[in-house]
Formats: sequence, C-alpha cells, structure tokens
Amino acid sequence: MERIDALVIGAGVVGLAVGRELARAGLETVVVEAANGIGQGVSSRNSEVIHAGLYYAPGSLKARLCVRGKALLYELCALQGVPHAACGKLVVATDEAQHAALQGLRERARANGVPAEWWSAGQARQAEPALCCTAALWSPSTGIVDSHGLMVALQGDLERAGGCVALGSRVLGGDARPADGIVLSVDADGRTTEIQARRVVNAAGLSACGVASRMAGLPPQHVPKARMAKGSYFTLAGRAPFQRLIYPAPVDAWLGVHLTLDLGGQARFGPDLEWLPGDEPEPSDYDVDPARAAGFEAAIRRYWPGLPDGALQPGYSGIRPKIHGPGEPAPDFRIDGPASHGVPGLVNLYGIESPGLTSAMAVGEFVRTLLT
Ligand SMILES: Cc1cc2nc3c(=O)[nH]c(=O)nc-3n(C[C@H](O)[C@H](O)[C@H](O)COP(=O)(O)OP(=O)(O)OC[C@H]3O[C@@H](n4cnc5c(N)ncnc54)[C@H](O)[C@@H]3O)c2cc1C
Repeated sequence: MERIDALVIGAGVVGLAVGRELARAGLETVVVEAANGIGQGVSSRNSEVIHAGLYYAPGSLKARLCVRGKALLYELCALQGVPHAACGKLVVATDEAQHAALQGLRERARANGVPAEWWSAGQARQAEPALCCTAALWSPSTGIVDSHGLMVALQGDLERAGGCVALGSRVLGGDARPADGIVLSVDADGRTTEIQARRVVNAAGLSACGVASRMAGLPPQHVPKARMAKGSYFTLAGRAPFQRLIYPAPVDAWLGVHLTLDLGGQARFGPDLEWLPGDEPEPSDYDVDPARAAGFEAAIRRYWPGLPDGALQPGYSGIRPKIHGPGEPAPDFRIDGPASHGVPGLVNLYGIESPGLTSAMAVGEFVRTLLT
C-alpha cells in the first residue's frame, strides 16, 4: 500500500488551492481527480466573478474567506499573468422600495471591510448610459478572472512544491479508523489501489457528501444531505453596452439575473435558480431550456430596457453544491475538520458554492491551519 502525507480528493479550484497550500507547507501531497482533466466540475461552470465580499454575514467563513481569497487571487493573477480584470460592478435598485436592500448591502460591505459607494441614478447613468435604475451601489474591487488560467497556475505551484495531480483517479471510499492514517480506495482505469494518507481533504464539490458517506469511521451525522440547484446562463448576440458587471438588488440569498462580462467583453446573463431532484447530477441536467429566455428578458429589462428582442441565446449551466433546501436560509461554507467530527487528519468541504472560486486560496490557508 502506498503511503503519503496528504491526499486531496478533487482537482477543482478549491482542491488545487488546498493541495498547493499543503505542498507548500512541506507535505508530500497528491490531488486525485476522477475526470481526465483539472477543473471539469463546478469550477468550469460559473460566472468567473471575483466577488468583493458584499453579501455575506460579517464574521462568517464566506465573508472572511471571500475577502482574503480576493486579495490572494488578485496577487497571484498579477504575479503569474493570469488573465483578469478589476472591472467593478454596480448593484442596482430599479425602484425606491429596493433602496433599503442596497443600504443593507452597503452596511454589510462596511462591516466586511469592503469598499462600496452609493451612486445616484444620474451618476450610474453617466457611467453606464444604457442602464435604468433609481440608485446603485458601486463595488470597485469586484472583478473577473480566467478560471482555467487560475487553476493552471495553482497546479503549477503545487507541482513546483513537489505535489502532483493524478487524473482519471476516482476515490471509491475509505476507512478512517486506522490509527496511522486514512485508507482510501482509488480506481484508475478499472484497477483499484489503496493509498494511506495522514491527512485527507474531501474537495469533491457536488460529490463531497457522497464521498464522505462512503468513509467508514466517519459518523453519518457529520455528513449533510446533498442538494443541487441549477443555474442557467443566456448569452447576448452582439456586444453589450456595459463596461461594468450589473447586478439587480438581491432577493433573499439569490443574486438575481445579473449581467457579467467575460475577458473578451462578451456578456452573459444568469445564473437563475432551479432546484433539481436527486443528489448528484446527470449529464442531461446541464441542458439549458430555451423557454427560460422569457423570464430572463423580463428580469433584464428592469435594468436594461433596451435589450433587443430575441437577443438572448441559451448558453451553459452550472450546478450549485447545496446543503440546504428550497426556502431555507443559505448556510455558511461548511468546513468540517477533526474538531467537529472527531476523525484525525480529515477535512470535509461541504456546500462550497459561490463565492468558492474567489475564496479558494483562502480556503487552502484555512484547511492548512486545521491540518498542520
Ligand atoms: C452557477 C454557478 C456560478 C458561480 N459563480 C461564481 C462566481 O462568479 N464567483 C465565485 O467566486 N464563485 C462562483 N461559483 C462557485 C464556484 O464555482 C465553486 O465554489 C467552486 O468552483 C467549487 O470548486 P470545487 O473545487 O469545490 O468543486 P469542483 O470544481 O466541482 O471540483 C470537485 C472535483 O472533484 C472531482 N471528484 C468528484 N468526486 C470524486 C471522486 N470520488 N474522486 C476523485 N475526484 C472526484 C470532480 O470531478 C471535480 O473535478 C459559482 C457556482 C455556480 C454553480
């Protein structure tokens, strides 16, 4: 049986960031990934927004790790030439009843140490003439990033620190009971091998709850029920008349149908919110239903009345790894270390939805402190 210091399950942005951090702390680290490439899961199906940290409850993991992760992300992008842009975003109110929600966000931003400026409708229209709003909150530290460029950079750092990524290697289950390290069964090309690791980090995204439930010795009460919430995107035919990201005032925990830009200036709208049955995705779950365009058009025209008819085209979709159900308040990131479940050397990452891309490197630091 092979023995190593640290094994990370999943080579999405979070698994790579955690692996990089553990390898840089001097641990012999392997990141095992079921797919044949890095970042094929949630990490390749998102908005690629570097979130500022406006939305999250002060003191929560989401707030702390987003703000810290944003700083680390901008630093890494600048250092390694990962394509990104600090384009900023406007959160807009389209009637005065929404001003209280914007004020609430401004307070949250202040408590989280994040810059956010109140703009009048006139100021917003001067910056973005196509925009229709009654007031806006300007977030200058929001940006966009090439998520695959970021993951390649994280993998490079991991490998330079002596770690590696094993592709096409699926963790089937494990046994957390042995005193000298957790034993994992890993299938590669139909051959199962056993690997013993003193530290195991479960960063399996949508499969994190499933992987944890197949870990003998981890009490089942420490594994939340997995839920999935799909988000569909529509792209715009032609160029959008906006330089900044545009978000409506948030409703509950959902950010609304917003406009984001990719690094080529192409606009996309979404993601919307659709709860799916089941706890792991089927390939057909990713299809985008063209009929949803009507709902998108109505939502977008509230802040961009000039959206031309028929300009939206079905884009792609992503699925959020939820650990709560419809109507329940959105929980914080759930990072379960030995102190919460009692298994030495094991960390499970549950519910790592947005702002997980932004927070990834800070999650890496956090997990390292739990394990070293
Ligand atoms: C629609 C949408 C929009 C989003 N927008 C943003 C945004 O703009 N900004 C932001 O900060 N965040 C955003 N997020 C959140 C962000 O994308 C995620 O938090 C982040 O990508 C999660 O990364 P991960 O590494 O945890 O998961 P993943 O990228 O899913 O990685 C998990 C990996 O584990 C592998 N795996 C699964 N099971 C096994 C197994 N048994 N053995 C081995 N490997 C396994 C999978 O193949 C996968 O590669 C968004 C999310 C969604 C769904």
